Amino acid sequence: MTGPPGPCGCGCALTPETSYGFDVDEFARDVLRHPLDPWQRWSAVHAGELLPDGSPRFSIVLILVARQNGKTELLVVLALYWLYVARIALVLGTSTKLDYAKESWKKAVKLARSILELSAEIPKRSGVRKANGEQELVVVPLDAANPDDPDDLEACRYKIAAANEEGGRSLSIGRFIADELRQHHSYEAWDAAEPATSAVDGSQTFALSNAGDDRSIVLNDLRESALAFIERGEGDGDVMLAEWSAPEDADPFDLAALAQANPNLGTRKNARKLLANARRAVARGGRALNGFKTEHMCIRVKVMNPAIDPGAWKRCLEVGRPGRRPVARGDVSRRRAGPATRHALRRGGAAGRAGAGRLREGLGRAGMH
Ligand SMILES: [Zn+2]
Repeated sequence: MTGPPGPCGCGCALTPETSYGFDVDEFARDVLRHPLDPWQRWSAVHAGELLPDGSPRFSIVLILVARQNGKTELLVVLALYWLYVARIALVLGTSTKLDYAKESWKKAVKLARSILELSAEIPKRSGVRKANGEQELVVVPLDAANPDDPDDLEACRYKIAAANEEGGRSLSIGRFIADELRQHHSYEAWDAAEPATSAVDGSQTFALSNAGDDRSIVLNDLRESALAFIERGEGDGDVMLAEWSAPEDADPFDLAALAQANPNLGTRKNARKLLANARRAVARGGRALNGFKTEHMCIRVKVMNPAIDPGAWKRCLEVGRPGRRPVARGDVSRRRAGPATRHALRRGGAAGRAGAGRLREGLGRAGMH
């Protein structure tokens, strides 16, 4: 979309005619009384961009943002908008653990029931099914032939299913929500549900997550293909990537870097608590530090439990004149070093062993000469 800056506010030309996101914003504010935060509004406006034929430009929307910035709330607003305004026949939420998908579903049901005009469209009998694994919210427009019948032809449903090879198969899904995509360590769940969206014109898949590690193959592949289009124009550009993340080698105490991953820092997310979290994670190192990086800095890590923190390693790099005999020196805690490091220390002789144990894991000082 090109043209003069429009009401989005970011400088883009999108308008209510070219994105359904403005309508989502109004619905959130005026009907749900749950106004979107600026980053949520921007995401909705851009994910809602429409082609000239009125169908969404992006068939897959990947939103990466650190934890506790309101991912679930955005999903709740979108799901209710799709049911009550867009009248999408089937919204399916799924995740590797049913609990993740259940969280946004439960919040959506609670919010819909708390608003008179919305709860009026939920049939009294079987409008909300809570049986585990078969959770379903049914919305039937009041002007439908049988507004009290959850099986009315005009009924719209928000179901959740565990992400496994069965979840979503044989359904025609108008909106597919893949919660916590970083947890998908295989394509099994994705392949069961995502193709079921292709049977429906104008369908969209929404994947929201914070960063994962090398095992998060679905997330990593989608992100790569979106970046290939953004940076090199490769591919068909039907994946939207919106990412709030700190630079890869950022210091966990760098507030400016933390703000890049946390659009609600200073509003809903408390900076003092976040820094206290960072201090604890750095002191513990390893898995705890990588957990902090993925969850609060939205940085992809190689593995969850490393012997050496690659960010700290990179920050300690000293570029100087190489001597005649290049030497690489690394110090890690012997106690917590992995087998590969212990092997290297054994082979390194006296010089290799000298520094072992001096440095804390994760924050290992590393010098290259
Ligand atoms: Zn914009």
